[in-house]
Amino acid sequence: MDKTKTTKEDLWGLIFDILAKRLPSHALNTWFSPIVPVSFNNKKITLSVPSQFFLEWIESHYSEQLLHAINQVVEDGPAIFQLTVSKDKEKIEEDQRVRRVQEKPKKNRVNKNYLFKNFIEGSNNEFAKNASLAVADSPGESKFNPLIVYGGVGLGKTHLLHAIGNSVLEKKPYSNVVLVTSEQFTLDFVNSLRKNKTIEFSKTYRKADLLLIDDIQFFRGKEQTQEQFFHTFNELYQSGRQIVMTSDRFPSELKGLQDRLISRFQSGLSVDIQPPNFEIRVAILLEKSEQNGLNLNYDAIEFIARHIKNNIRDLEGTIIRILAKSSLMNKPIDFALIKDVVRERTGSGFSSELTIEDIVKKVSEITKVKEKEITGKSRKMEIAQARQLSMYLCRNIIGTSLNNIGFHFGGRDHSTVIHAVKSIDKKQEKDSRLRDQVKSIRQDLDFTV
Ligand code: ADP
Ligand code: MG
Repeated sequence: MDKTKTTKEDLWGLIFDILAKRLPSHALNTWFSPIVPVSFNNKKITLSVPSQFFLEWIESHYSEQLLHAINQVVEDGPAIFQLTVSKDKEKIEEDQRVRRVQEKPKKNRVNKNYLFKNFIEGSNNEFAKNASLAVADSPGESKFNPLIVYGGVGLGKTHLLHAIGNSVLEKKPYSNVVLVTSEQFTLDFVNSLRKNKTIEFSKTYRKADLLLIDDIQFFRGKEQTQEQFFHTFNELYQSGRQIVMTSDRFPSELKGLQDRLISRFQSGLSVDIQPPNFEIRVAILLEKSEQNGLNLNYDAIEFIARHIKNNIRDLEGTIIRILAKSSLMNKPIDFALIKDVVRERTGSGFSSELTIEDIVKKVSEITKVKEKEITGKSRKMEIAQARQLSMYLCRNIIGTSLNNIGFHFGGRDHSTVIHAVKSIDKKQEKDSRLRDQVKSIRQDLDFTV
């Protein structure tokens, strides 16, 4: 056959037909269908196979048949063949992935309990949650690279970071998810320096498909670690791997971090988590008490939500503390116990012996509305307001149940009480006089949270 007139594809087609007559079809399909002819010169045909494994298998099992078929087709032989492992992009990635999985580092300590499905969504965190979901769905593919979730302590940043890791691992169990805190990253780096293993260190991190770094504010002032992180970041970023970080503040406010790092961070998306508002605190307490097998009534939940305001970790801690106190001290979970725990945790000195009467008396003193009127039925504006204020304080300070409050203030039902509490909450935002009244009553009653 004249090689100048025959393309390498034609040639391979002929060889393939000969093999097809000699080999069982499964062997042909498995080993020969994926072969692509690369070149044919100087009586040498070069064939590309998908992997090293293929190459070795064909050489050890089918060399003879292959050579024979080639020499039937190439007339002025003898001709030889050479196999090469194909280097197309997908293939390379597949190989790398397999290799990475085989040498999977032990660093992906993703906490299986932090999932999207148990992350309670509210207006304070929905932006951060949705961005995290988007990144978990198509890591490295969206514009949100890197994604930075920032906000105060105990607001769910670490939870979201792990949720992304879990979600990616669920979809692609073999992907190399590396999750570390910035402190661990630093420690790893310092150890690698000590042991002369910085190359291994970079390899481990640069093999990540998804790099999740918690609390990057702790990179502050660690110049050499930042240097390492900068290179790791660039390498992953350039090869389209996803990076997610958490921080206690907006990236540009991260003092002690190199400007070039910060400007890299700003090429992605930064989303914040805000402290939870009252409704979200209630939702979280309901969920967490259920998770912990604690059956709290709504009044108790609302009481806790009104006093524990900072973050979700505190809310969770309160639930655990209530459980612990009740079981270790063998006490029933009643309002007294809940109040005790809340008082401990807020550090406030309110008296659990305070009564509705004490509150009414105090409100009367300050508003100059008679006690009898406060607990009566009059709808006169100033009286109604003093009554609402008293209801609000009973609810907030002593945690009286809605029905009980209703009963004390002229036999009203619980929805009237809810309305009163809400309306005082709202009015305080605009009415500074009311705000001052509430403040001074709280102070007088020695309740200052
Ligand atoms: P951060 O990293 O922001 O300091 P964490 O993620 O550690 O906060 O959250 C503190 C605790 O509160 C964790 O146990 C977490 O599961 C829980 N938590 C935070 N936000 C939520 C949420 N939206 N829904 C459910 N649990 C939450
Ligand atoms: Mg955290």
